[in-house]
Amino acid sequence: MPTPVPAGAIRHTGGCLQPVLLRGRADYIDGGTGELIHRYTTVHEPGGVLLIACKTRRASRCPPCAEVYRADTYQLIRAGLTGGKGIPATVADHPCVFVTLTAPSFGPVHARREKGGRVLACRPRRKDKTCPHGIRLSCGDKHDHNDHRLGEPLCPDCYDYTGAVLFNACAPELWRRFTITLRRALARQLLGPVRNREGTADRSGGRTPDPGPDQLLGPDRGRDAGDCGV
Ligand SMILES: [Zn+2]
Ligand SMILES: [Zn+2]
Ligand SMILES: [Zn+2]
Repeated sequence: MPTPVPAGAIRHTGGCLQPVLLRGRADYIDGGTGELIHRYTTVHEPGGVLLIACKTRRASRCPPCAEVYRADTYQLIRAGLTGGKGIPATVADHPCVFVTLTAPSFGPVHARREKGGRVLACRPRRKDKTCPHGIRLSCGDKHDHNDHRLGEPLCPDCYDYTGAVLFNACAPELWRRFTITLRRALARQLLGPVRNREGTADRSGGRTPDPGPDQLLGPDRGRDAGDCGV
């Protein structure tokens, strides 16, 4: 029997249609003394479970969560361009860069493809190959926007879920290093040769000093990779 979930708990997740139900406990322990500082358990939550919104970006999966993501992204980009939300208005004078970053592929997935307003076949292949699990590695379907298969692997057993999890786990560090490199590259292009602390121009391939957190880019500071809007 599934645990009945009170309506109030569902409202708490912003109306998420497919909340993640967590059951268990978390112990907060002092790393130095080993002392138990605080213990949280879901026993005292309504129905004995803690509901967490799924936070998907895909409206076909959960429209309320996708809308929150859409609105957050809008505010994030707006603040980066014109200021607000803790970003000074002077950011509007800064150069801005719109970057599209694509994660590596972890295996073929069903996708909706369009060209010139026409919907194309998902993954057409002349040779109808199958994977080691006997599943076809092609898909001739023209997926609808709401097709529940969108984004799902053609073969779940072939899909590199471990790689996907590790990539996402390392994404914050990847994002941090990327933004440092981006700022330095921009500084080199926009500011030209920069002067080192002794006041002499650095043209010898030395590292260009980091222009500082709020000198070139705004809204992404201090946010993790999942929030990278710009
Ligand atoms: Zn949701
Ligand atoms: Zn497909
Ligand atoms: Zn397979």
